[in-house]
Amino acid sequence: METNCHVCNSVDTELLYKNLKDLTFKTTKETFDLYSCNNCDAKFQHPLMPEDKVGQYYPDSYDPFNNIKKTIIPINNKKNPQSVYLSYLHSKHNKNDEFSLIDVGCGGGNFLNSVNHYFPNAKLFGVDVSEIAIENLKKNNIDGTCNSLYDFSTKIKFDYITASQVLEHLNRPHDFIKKITEIAKPNATFMIDVPASDGYAAKKYKENWVHWDLPRHSIIYSKKSLTHLLKDNFTTINLNFAGTYTAIRSSKKISKNKDIYTPNFIDNYVIKYASPILKIFNHLYTDKIYWIGKMKNN
Ligand SMILES: [Zn+2]
Repeated sequence: METNCHVCNSVDTELLYKNLKDLTFKTTKETFDLYSCNNCDAKFQHPLMPEDKVGQYYPDSYDPFNNIKKTIIPINNKKNPQSVYLSYLHSKHNKNDEFSLIDVGCGGGNFLNSVNHYFPNAKLFGVDVSEIAIENLKKNNIDGTCNSLYDFSTKIKFDYITASQVLEHLNRPHDFIKKITEIAKPNATFMIDVPASDGYAAKKYKENWVHWDLPRHSIIYSKKSLTHLLKDNFTTINLNFAGTYTAIRSSKKISKNKDIYTPNFIDNYVIKYASPILKIFNHLYTDKIYWIGKMKNN
């Protein structure tokens, strides 16, 4: 059976890992296959899980928008993509500048709250599939809409568009990028981050890497495949690895069949206090890719 790549449409794809289990949440006994594209390097679940079926693979206790605290993301933390985006905005704007920014898949609104904190005159907007997420956003006086990320509409076009840890959940990446280009002003800047299938933890822990996260993630990108997806519409400004030690720690636990959500002595003390020292080992902090680019004006 031919299995086309969802990013470059090549038929030169092959099975990478067979019969993967839901290693993170253990919601099912079903198994899932992961394929790899030899042309663009995208990795994808095959067959793709329909997006309207993914919800059943989250545990009942999973509520990412419960107890959201309004925390402001610091600037200049190179290990956090959203902090990098704030630094980029800082390099382009003064505090009182007016610009427009939309966060697609905004979740609880942490990033938008942070932009609002540093740039109080920025026109901000959020989109998310979660109603609770958008309610939360509006509580903090930021405008938003609860909608599919493929076909929402906005009254204005934007100078900046951000999408953090969203693309790996989407089965139709080209439709998503098309939507991004429709809501962008000419010369708009797009900032996006995804888990990195070419980072240290993915290579070391192979099928036990925490961010395969099947069946919840559908397509997982590397620097090469992300560039392939974006190259027709955007010019790259910055492409880099980021991430924390947590991905390594969680992948190690998965490979030893331990529960990743129950912190132990090492998590609570050793990792916490050793993290600033571990940061000198840059190659370890590679479980995410962030990409900043400008719209091409075709
Ligand atoms: Zn491909």
